[in-house]
Amino acid sequence: MDAAETETNSAGRDFIRDIVKADLESGRVAGVVTRFPPEPNGYLHIGHAKSICLNFGIAEEFGGRCHLRFDDTNPAKEEQEYIDAIERDVRWLGFDWSEHLHHASDYFELLYGWAEYLIRAGKAYVDDTPPAQMREQRGTLTEPGHNSAWRDRPAEENLDLFRRMRAGEFPNGARVLRAKIDMASPNMNLRDPVLYRILHAAHPRTGTRWCIYPTYDYAHGQSDAIEGITHSLCTLEFEDHRPLYDWFIENLPVPSRPRQYEFARLNIGYMALSKRVLTRLVQEGKVSGWDDPRMPTLAGLRRRGVPPAALRDFVRRSGISKSNSVADIAAFEFSIRELLNKAAPRRMAVLRPLRLVIENYPEGQTETLPAVNNPEDAAAGTRPVTFARELFIERDDFMENPPKKFFRLAPGREVRLRYGYFVTCREAVKDGSGEVVELRCTYDPATRGGDAPDGRKVQATLHWVAAADALSAEVRLYNRLFARPDPGADGDIMADLDPNSMEVLTGCLVEPALAQAPVGEAVQFERQGYFCADPDSRPGRLVFNRCVGLRDTWAKVQASEGGARVRTTARD
Ligand code: ATP
Ligand code: MG
Repeated sequence: MDAAETETNSAGRDFIRDIVKADLESGRVAGVVTRFPPEPNGYLHIGHAKSICLNFGIAEEFGGRCHLRFDDTNPAKEEQEYIDAIERDVRWLGFDWSEHLHHASDYFELLYGWAEYLIRAGKAYVDDTPPAQMREQRGTLTEPGHNSAWRDRPAEENLDLFRRMRAGEFPNGARVLRAKIDMASPNMNLRDPVLYRILHAAHPRTGTRWCIYPTYDYAHGQSDAIEGITHSLCTLEFEDHRPLYDWFIENLPVPSRPRQYEFARLNIGYMALSKRVLTRLVQEGKVSGWDDPRMPTLAGLRRRGVPPAALRDFVRRSGISKSNSVADIAAFEFSIRELLNKAAPRRMAVLRPLRLVIENYPEGQTETLPAVNNPEDAAAGTRPVTFARELFIERDDFMENPPKKFFRLAPGREVRLRYGYFVTCREAVKDGSGEVVELRCTYDPATRGGDAPDGRKVQATLHWVAAADALSAEVRLYNRLFARPDPGADGDIMADLDPNSMEVLTGCLVEPALAQAPVGEAVQFERQGYFCADPDSRPGRLVFNRCVGLRDTWAKVQASEGGARVRTTARD
């Protein structure tokens, strides 16, 4: 394969954009028209985001347009809930189809008429062969298929039967309409593919008007032609369907001639990007729903606090190619961190609190200190935080017997409390079981704001909250949903679920400014990572989701396994 086909080159182009550009320059097409064609049988996932960004992106870049078309040809699996979710998710990702919202079901009448056209032309027939026998007659990749006994039915009889199929005279599965192409073709898709099947099922848009429904292969290219799509972009598994796509376009009186191009689908390690699997996770209650923050769905990622721009960035960096590969989940997390580091306000939250009492700080006194909202953005200003005698720090920021590389708090050691003062630990108070329950400290009043006038240094800066005004919160930590990079590779994918994919911390304490954190908008909990309020969050019962940790603990794991180490932000 030629290198130009496998990589996004430095100009941000790829083989598809190169084709579009050449087609516009040569005048083969007057303008570019693309479409994103989801089947409304589930929620969109991050793989779909790649297709959305490609189709809408190309339309934007080349001054064309992109349609949103629901490929709603199978009412057995399609639902209004999915239609609504898909529209919401495409908009959230930042794209707009303006008036070009279409449905394959809008074309049912036209598609039906073209099926009769094929019958009259002797290019389609009604087949009564039972499904099992039909499968046998299809042959295999190495053996040709066999003609059906009904293949040479006269056109008049085919027309009559096809009309009666439409009229509802026959039960599900009794007959199908097939194209008459070539049962010996080396391409299985050309062995008299099915165009229509009988399905007595109500459709979300057409109700009970139809009881025969077109197949994907029959509906897709013709829908493209009806809408004037110039470049019909799909994933590689449709490469072998392209001859069929072209066969329909050549044999039908369609109003335009679209062309299909294939690119590699997005796969990401530790994730399952298949609606079939995601549907099972929801139906079997393995997750709380399609928007469970562990799901790779756009709804789940949104709930987790992933900004749409980070998704677009990741998809752009992952490039468009013609060979299948698996993207590293760390690359996705890198895109999220990079964006949030610039944009997310900083806040202080203590996930596993340990009480700290400053013995020389007057009882009943409090003071207000300015805390920087975003060191990357001076315009974000500061907010007041309350400092007082009783505070909470993170339990793992203290060690009674610290090993050599532990620079945080320990008996006798001095550290900085962020935006506050230097404090020194004088004593660790324990309960009956020997667990440290409180630290008795002293502070140096001369270090207000975090610097010592005598220039002495401390080796750690800790985040904290004041006992008097901290709000309690639940914090949900998410890890990878699956425990292996290739879930399902050796057996049932459900066996590969990571039982520790979610950890719920209660009794966390957060600074009061977090009461107003908008749902879904990530903030940085200093030294911890990026978090956002969950839709379950209520005044008095705050709930936060971890979007992504600060540093790439994943790269560390890889490094210890011999891979390259990429370290982003350190905690100490
Ligand atoms: P799934 O495999 O999850 O069931 P699908 O292909 O059946 O997905 P559709 O609703 O038909 O889902 O997909 C709409 C569009 O998104 C199609 O053009 C499809 O090729 C594309 N798409 C689906 N999954 C991916 C992926 N992982 N990477 C890139 N494009 C994808
Ligand atoms: Mg599909």
